[in-house]
Amino acid sequence: MPVALSAATPSETNARAKDKQLPDQRPPVIVLAPHPDDETFGCGGTICMLAESGVSVDVAFLTRGEQGTEAAAEQSSQESRRLAEVRSREARAACNILGVRQTLFLNGHDTRLSDEPELATAIASLLQNGGYQRVFCPWPQDSHDDHKATFRLLQRAVSTLAREQSFWLYEVWKPLPANTLVPIDGTVANKRRAMEQYPSQLSQLNYREGFLGLSAYRSLFCPGSTHAEAFWVCNRSELLALP
Ligand SMILES: [Zn+2]
Repeated sequence: MPVALSAATPSETNARAKDKQLPDQRPPVIVLAPHPDDETFGCGGTICMLAESGVSVDVAFLTRGEQGTEAAAEQSSQESRRLAEVRSREARAACNILGVRQTLFLNGHDTRLSDEPELATAIASLLQNGGYQRVFCPWPQDSHDDHKATFRLLQRAVSTLAREQSFWLYEVWKPLPANTLVPIDGTVANKRRAMEQYPSQLSQLNYREGFLGLSAYRSLFCPGSTHAEAFWVCNRSELLALP
C-alpha cells in the first residue's frame, strides 16, 4: 500500500528551521529528464513543492527532444534543429514556473539514448560534483526507449560512484508500483501552467488531461487530496539491483 508522504521529510523540516540562518545549506536535488516535458508531466508538482520549500532543484535534460513530432521519421535535419530550439525554450519556460534553479542540457540524441553510453559519464560527473542528495529519474519500465535508457545511464553512473543518495523514480508513460505518493494540491496549478509552456507537444496529444488525470487518480490513495504524484523511492543498492 502506498504511503502518503509530503515532499518535506521530518529531517528536512528540521533543516529548514536551521536554514533561516543558513539558506544555502540544504542539499540540492537533480531531476533527469529524457526529453523536455518529462520533468513537468512526471513530477512537476513535486519539483515545485521542493522549490517553494527552499530546496534548489536542477533539471538535466538528456536530449532536446528534436524528434518530438508525430512525423519524426520524415523530419529534415533543419526541422530537427528548429524543434530542438523550440523545445529547449519551452523547457526553460516550464522550469522557470516550477522554480527550478538551473536547466542543463546534456545534448544526447532524441530516440537514440540507448546508443550513447558516454552520457553516463556526464551524469556521474553531475552527481559527483553537484552535491545532490536526491535524484529523480524515470523508472526502468517506463514505456519509452529513451526513458528506459535514461534509467540505465543513471544506474551505470551510480555504479561508478561511492556516494549515498536517494533515488525518486517517476512515471510518465507507464504507471509504476508506487511506494511513495506526494500530494501536490498546493502546486498543481503551477504544474498546469508549466505544462502550458509546451505548445509544441500539447498540439499533438491531449497531455493536459492525460497527466492531470493520472495525478487525480494517484490522489485516491492520499485521502483529502485532489492530485498526487507517485514514485518508487530507493537507495543506492536498491537502485543498482533493479532489473
Ligand atoms: Zn520523454
